[in-house]
Amino acid sequence: MNIIIIGAGHAGGTVAALLRQNGFKGGITLIGEEPHAPYQRPPLSKGWLKGQVAGDGLLLRPRDWYDENGIALKTSTRVVRIEPASRTVVLSTGESLSYDKLVLATGARARKLVLPGSDLKGFLELRTIEDAEALKAWFKPGFRLAIIGGGYVGLEVAASARLLGAEVRVIEREDRLLARVGGPVLSSFFRQVHEDHGVEFRFGVTVEGFEGLDGQVSGVRLAGGELVPCDAVLVGIGAIPNDDLARDSLLVCDDGVVVDGHARTSDPNIFAVGDMTRRPMPLYGRSVRLESVPNALEQGRQAAAAICGTAEPKPETPWFWSDQYDHKLQIAGMIFDVDQTVMRGDPASGKFAVFHLSGARIQAVEAVNAPPEFMMGRQWLASRREIDPGRLEDVSIPIREV
Ligand code: NAP
Repeated sequence: MNIIIIGAGHAGGTVAALLRQNGFKGGITLIGEEPHAPYQRPPLSKGWLKGQVAGDGLLLRPRDWYDENGIALKTSTRVVRIEPASRTVVLSTGESLSYDKLVLATGARARKLVLPGSDLKGFLELRTIEDAEALKAWFKPGFRLAIIGGGYVGLEVAASARLLGAEVRVIEREDRLLARVGGPVLSSFFRQVHEDHGVEFRFGVTVEGFEGLDGQVSGVRLAGGELVPCDAVLVGIGAIPNDDLARDSLLVCDDGVVVDGHARTSDPNIFAVGDMTRRPMPLYGRSVRLESVPNALEQGRQAAAAICGTAEPKPETPWFWSDQYDHKLQIAGMIFDVDQTVMRGDPASGKFAVFHLSGARIQAVEAVNAPPEFMMGRQWLASRREIDPGRLEDVSIPIREV
């Protein structure tokens, strides 16, 4: 049996490794467009920019590991077409490869901002090692970085850039930070943290275009007329699933390839994992597209188990994390169907957790510098245990005894 995995990122690399771990003895081909073996992206906006992680430190496994485990790793290689009827994939070189099972793990790409002036030099995004290298090369004291988007990319880069001495201005369309992923308490806390570190914000504004000097971007023009001066612009305005190959192959897609709880697409021979999928989330009675490493790992386990016929992995609760300056944010669950919010701790102390409840059940917890609250919240979320909100907000009761 031959398995082809398209996409050699965290999700694809994990599936390849798990297939071998599950005892799969057939052929595995792992195809990636980037020149690198599968690597971790989370450090790119943090440790990598700050020079704390370098070289092969990002790799999921050493490059030799793939040869040693009989995995044909084809980097710098693009798949241009899938032919589901003949179970073939066609590469940009014209070569065709046949599969018994195919795994799509093509991830997501950075959303572009196409406005007057966005063809000037000095625009950056952050998705790959090369993007991070280009960004790092700019950072020095006095360098003026304008960041469009106050999401994870924007804020993690803002923190790294400030620590390296750059001037940072963040422009966000919403009236608060992290609006896609968190509640207002979290937004206010991180706004204060960044302002204390010298980051300037513009909220609730639309970018109209960019001004340049000698072909290089020199300012961001906002609706209303303000010009935010800069030497470069980082665009961090979200990610778009790379589901083109799937759509061309007539797989069912809906902002991502639609999969079931075993990572199966609408074609029984094709699986899909990671940022590019829309997956069921029974906990919330919805399907969601999650952009996170824990999700890529969970779906990797689902696909590897389904292909190998091994025991189905236990369902997991979604979780996310972000490090900014010395602050650790951990989020478990998603803020769906919430009718009550309980604060535990005081944001002014720099250590707190916001629990989001539906009735007496936890739907999500946002924990800042509070790993025990995060861990308990995750467990309660998974067990659907009923919690007394009064005891939850009482910090004199240890979290385990709530
Ligand atoms: P994001 O988290 O979706 O945040 C993008 C932000 O930009 C949103 O608040 C969005 O507001 C705003 N925005 C969109 N269009 C805008 C515009 N024209 N002008 C100003 N603001 C605009 O996406 P991201 O930060 O770019 O991250 C990209 C991907 O990397 C995501 O998959 C993210 O999860 C991943 N990532 C994760 C981490 C982590 O988990 N720690 C770290 C780095 C990257 P609207 O809601 O109004 O669109």
